[in-house]
Amino acid sequence: MSTDLISALTDLIGPRHVLTGSDMAPYAFDWRQREESHPVAVLRPGSTAEVAAIVRLCAERRIPIVPQGGNTGLVGGTVALKGTGAILLNLGRLNHIRALDAADYTLTAEAGCVLADIQAAAAAADRYFPLSLGAEGTCMLGGNLSSNAGGILTLRYGNARDLVLGLEVVLPDGRVWNGLRTLRKDNSGYDLKHLFLGAEGTLGIITAASVKLYPRPRQIETALVAVPSPAAAVTLLGLARTGTGDSLSAFELMPRFTFDGSREILGRDQDPLSAPSPWYVLLEASSGMAGPTLRGQVEAVLETALEQGLVTDAIFADSMEQQRKLWLIRESLPEIGRKIGGAVHTDVSVPVSRIPDFLAATINAVSAYMPGIRPYPFGHVGDGNIHFNIGRPADMEWPAYLAHAHAISDIVHEQVLAHGGSISAEHGIGNHKAEELARIKDPVELDLMRKVKAMLDPDGIMNPGKVLVR
Ligand code: FAD
Repeated sequence: MSTDLISALTDLIGPRHVLTGSDMAPYAFDWRQREESHPVAVLRPGSTAEVAAIVRLCAERRIPIVPQGGNTGLVGGTVALKGTGAILLNLGRLNHIRALDAADYTLTAEAGCVLADIQAAAAAADRYFPLSLGAEGTCMLGGNLSSNAGGILTLRYGNARDLVLGLEVVLPDGRVWNGLRTLRKDNSGYDLKHLFLGAEGTLGIITAASVKLYPRPRQIETALVAVPSPAAAVTLLGLARTGTGDSLSAFELMPRFTFDGSREILGRDQDPLSAPSPWYVLLEASSGMAGPTLRGQVEAVLETALEQGLVTDAIFADSMEQQRKLWLIRESLPEIGRKIGGAVHTDVSVPVSRIPDFLAATINAVSAYMPGIRPYPFGHVGDGNIHFNIGRPADMEWPAYLAHAHAISDIVHEQVLAHGGSISAEHGIGNHKAEELARIKDPVELDLMRKVKAMLDPDGIMNPGKVLVR
């Protein structure tokens, strides 16, 4: 990068916020540490006006821009690809909550607000922001919206996209679109915000958003349930939705490996049930009303399920501490994956009713490909979203296994497509799945996506190499 450009950028946002060389290290990395990031500089603007000024300068000089929030994305979306000459634009200093209107149940916040801080601000006003995921202490609102994050509450409240009322976006030519409306009803033309939600920074930079808040749950019932099979889990899901008046907020499927892996690999014995089961469900139901009704409803559902052989054992959390411990079991799965020295990760979805067939077929297919391989599919089964992860055989070193990673994930994705699913349920496409998307996406849909991209970003400066590669 020319010193002329660095000094022009420095003039815009000050020297402390233009980082080069080793100062870029805290930003220029991939969360999964599977690839290197090569920005020519990291910029940390402090306002929408500064973001717009940077984008205008980059547009004039055709400098590619990679937007970044908390950098917890899992598909390489924030990696500045080698040879592109891109700058990394970190939004972390845009971290103000601009407004919270308890009467309107809305909150307007800047893109760099950490998700947990938004949840806390809503709670302080006796309101609830129902986006929740493992990375919530680090990920940021702009990243959540740009990746259309899912998480554990999607079943009840939808994806990030469903929580947005309005957006402020810096467009690739540097203009600011102020679409920060808080209206629940607004049918005045095309709903442009949906173009930017889930666009992974390829169409513009989200600088702020107005989001929906909800009544804070007064009662949360959490139960760990042993089930004999994924088919039993799916039937239980239907019973629980009906039996609780659709108060179910989370429904996570976990294999036995969760407990065996915790004991053997993390040294944590955390199975509170009396006998081992091949599969488990962690379910949560919530209500805005305090009182015994919800517990009674969930108990009745589980009793019926027990009678029908859909459930073999169950335990309720009787305190917030016990709730935390049950969720810790679910959260230990990614940790086990890291500790076993690497696994092939996938993030896929199929229609909920097809989950049992999909799991059986995919476990068979990957096991036939490599004996000793350790599939441990888990995830947000209430939304049809499975993280079908596959650990290496105990006697195979990671580099040898890594050489098979593409072939293994292709096997999983083949099964996903055969079962009417998507190769990206909630993490997005980034650069990891961009080539594959170009191969498998409906050609008409791809054509429309390319035309939208060309219209908004004709010079292709926004996050090159991500989502759309050709
Ligand atoms: P980043 O990683 O910084 O960016 C993500 C993408 O958005 C990139 O393409 C980036 O260029 C773009 N971007 C970032 N900010 C902006 C902006 N302001 N304007 C335009 N583009 C922007 N995801 C889920 O959906 N559900 C889960 O349950 C879940 N659990 C996770 C658990 C762990 C432990 C980890 C590490 C990740 C998990 N993720 C999950 C993935 C990740 O946390 C989410 O995708 C999250 O929404 C990303 O937010 P971020 O701020 O870290 O975004």
